[in-house]
Amino acid sequence: MAKLELKGLKKKYPDFTLDLDLEVNEGEFLTIIGPSGSGKSTLLSLISGLEDPDEGQILVDGKDIVKVPVQKRGISMVFQDYALFPNMNVEKNIAYAMKIRKIRKKERKEDVNALLSFVNLPGYNKRKVTTLSGGESQRVALARALSSQPSILLLDEPLSALDAALRRRMRDEIRRIHDENPALTTIYVTHDREEAFSISDRIAVIRSGKIEMTGTPQAVYREPETLFTAYFTGEGTSLPGTMFNLDIEADTIFFRPEAVTVREGVFYGDSDAFLILENVEVSGAEYLGHCYMLGLQYDGHRILAQSGFYPKDKYITIYIRKTQLIFFKDGSIVK
Ligand code: ADP
Repeated sequence: MAKLELKGLKKKYPDFTLDLDLEVNEGEFLTIIGPSGSGKSTLLSLISGLEDPDEGQILVDGKDIVKVPVQKRGISMVFQDYALFPNMNVEKNIAYAMKIRKIRKKERKEDVNALLSFVNLPGYNKRKVTTLSGGESQRVALARALSSQPSILLLDEPLSALDAALRRRMRDEIRRIHDENPALTTIYVTHDREEAFSISDRIAVIRSGKIEMTGTPQAVYREPETLFTAYFTGEGTSLPGTMFNLDIEADTIFFRPEAVTVREGVFYGDSDAFLILENVEVSGAEYLGHCYMLGLQYDGHRILAQSGFYPKDKYITIYIRKTQLIFFKDGSIVK
């Protein structure tokens, strides 16, 4: 079991500074999301020991590991490109860390077999890693990362090289591996928000080297603390607060496409529960299979609305559920 705490962690590059605090609980699956260049890989490099911080502490169960060498941290990392040793077969890749730890040959063999079964590649021992598919390479990389029995597993965009269907299967696999190792604390990096929502206990949104928000997948989507988080975790619309008579001090109203109801004809809902906008122009639509994503225009503003049908009228009335409005002032949520 390992609880990870980052305290006042700083790393400066000429054009970039990472500066953050973060806690990851024992056995937790935490995902870091953020745009390209926001510091996600840098953060993992600092935790794993591939890079040294300029300041701050990295505490594992209360003990600072900043000066502890990479191999002794009890932390394993899986890279985007897997970084398997191309000159070794599958078995040797997986047994590598065990050999360093001077585990006896017989035991190594047993452990390799158990790990290969665990990642659903039984019998792959002698296969050359250069002949493996993307999904198989990923499984070997996971088995290799687990072979040192880490207490913390770091995964840096591990699925980005795989196609969509395989990505979905592998993310279920990764979550299963986490769940079947109750002692394992996992930190996962991705820029794919759907992946983050489906796999995580908690999500940390990072922006320009700083933590913007941490929360459950539901919290970062439904109650984003900042406008940046709101947009980074899903689609949405911002309208200026001045457009409405608000009894809250906000400069921006934000809502998700699913907060909008599009109606043709009579509306039977409780009109007090909705913000009603009339004469909204339908300017475009994207068919997503399960719904249409309508692009609307209202008073010079673009509104995104989810709808089960494509409206036949050019001008429509829309109803935005008041309980789903999120208010912001200077980019931060107003409650
Ligand atoms: P992300 O993983 O979120 O895409 P990175 O952590 O890779 O972001 O990079 C964050 C920023 O730090 C980028 O602007 C990158 O150019 C810079 N950076 C990363 N590593 C180095 C380095 N070794 N030297 C200088 N700048 C670096």
